[in-house]
Amino acid sequence: MATRTLEARFEHMSVNDPSDGSRFQKSKPSQLAHSTSRPNLFKVALQSQKSNTVTATVTLPSQAAQWKGSTAQANAPPTSPSKREKLAAAAAAAARSSDELAVVEQRPQPPSYVDQPLTPKQFHLGMFEIGRPLGKGKFGRVYLARERSTGFVCALKTLYKAELQSCRAEGQVRREVEIQSNLRHPNILKLYGHFHDSKRIFLILEFAGKGELYKHLRRENRFPEWKAAQYIAQCAAALRYLHRKHVIHRDIKPENILLGIHGEIKIADFGWSVHAPSRRRQTLCGTLDYLPPEMIVRTGKDGSYNEKVDLWSLGVLTYEFLVGEAPFEDTKAMTERRIARADMTIPSFVSPEARDLIKRLLVLDPEKRLPLEDVEQHPWILKHCVKGSRTGKPEQKSRRDGN
Ligand code: AMP
Repeated sequence: MATRTLEARFEHMSVNDPSDGSRFQKSKPSQLAHSTSRPNLFKVALQSQKSNTVTATVTLPSQAAQWKGSTAQANAPPTSPSKREKLAAAAAAAARSSDELAVVEQRPQPPSYVDQPLTPKQFHLGMFEIGRPLGKGKFGRVYLARERSTGFVCALKTLYKAELQSCRAEGQVRREVEIQSNLRHPNILKLYGHFHDSKRIFLILEFAGKGELYKHLRRENRFPEWKAAQYIAQCAAALRYLHRKHVIHRDIKPENILLGIHGEIKIADFGWSVHAPSRRRQTLCGTLDYLPPEMIVRTGKDGSYNEKVDLWSLGVLTYEFLVGEAPFEDTKAMTERRIARADMTIPSFVSPEARDLIKRLLVLDPEKRLPLEDVEQHPWILKHCVKGSRTGKPEQKSRRDGN
């Protein structure tokens, strides 16, 4: 029922780009406050957490300790010691390593909460227990958090209003909130809601247990082909969903991709994304290494571009996963020149199938890039992805085929 309601909301989704005249007023940050028009999202969040973990719920082994000692907890009223002890005991029992997620026995969800009729949910900081910091962004920190009444684990992103204003980044946040909160896909990071106080804006995000993909890539230097193929298949599925909703991400790169607890792709950072029903945009944005030629040299008629920009970025991503660096990495001027000519060299250790996919995506003419449906059916993807499951490890054979 909640899913249907969301789908229905989708049909009427209207996401405005601030550059086109946003619905949010710059001088009224309160309009970014409680999204009472989305009363059912928290229920959906609960249900999705329930259904994703049918027999188990996840918690951090180190989470309980962090709950006890966290300085950030000063922001919120304390939890009862018995509850903390229970959590600590469950967590300790499941602990494998201090940083890894462990699966512990499911704590029963309060059915009355989940089943209650849709009521507007007003979020505020006191509703959350704040855990360890998960990372630091440009405008604030991200914390592991847990909604007190339900135990729902999420990531709470804090953004300082003053910093947003001084960097004129309010538009970016509005875009992120408006677009991301309307998206529901297993490979797209969910935004459950938002609220604010006098100084900060808080985004309630899905917790991506394995953190930044970029860090994994740096640690491993480059991914084996089976892993790269599974990641690319998931990215393609997420992008196909976005494009169906007329959303262009425009900033696909490893830094903007997180990994869920099962190692699945979670596309995040919709700060540069745009809802473009006309499918043609004219703003220059994104990161140079991942920018397509049409956004650098403005080859398109009237200098515009469309959702095919994300296909180019997917090609760059495929290359970087397999090689360990982006294909056009160079000085700024040289990168631009090389992108404009699609001038790249694919090392010989890359398999012929992967090489074929990269070449079909990094095509100068946007209209000739391999469509996403065909990416998902490409021989390299099919070889490494078990049908119906694109997050698991490969069969022994494909793992040996690896690099
Ligand atoms: P951001 O401000 O979005 O760039 O986030 C800063 C850092 O916090 C990221 O680089 C991640 O390491 C971490 N982070 C952000 N969001 C999440 C999330 N939903 N789950 C886990 N870690 C996150």
